[in-house]
Amino acid sequence: MKDLRYIDGVTSLSLDRSVCIGCKMCSQVCPQAVFSYHAGKASIEDGDGCMECGACGVNCPVGALSVNPGVG
Ligand code: SF4
Ligand code: SF4
Repeated sequence: MKDLRYIDGVTSLSLDRSVCIGCKMCSQVCPQAVFSYHAGKASIEDGDGCMECGACGVNCPVGALSVNPGVG
């Protein structure tokens, strides 16, 4: 889905890697392949690809992800 873009640099998505447990749920639910993994934790690989659907934030079991759905 790398061809579907919104506006660069405006996503509300944020990730607190200090609390991430590396379960990879965020990458399973993300329709835009925003996440990658490094050292057992999620990383935001393509933040500008985020369409702020909110799925990752809802499904993260430890609250590591924050996003404001619908503002984009
Ligand atoms: S809000 Fe949606 S598009 Fe953005 S990173 Fe999370 S799951 Fe992917
Ligand atoms: S869903 Fe949350 S805890 Fe799981 S890998 Fe993603 S950010 Fe980390």
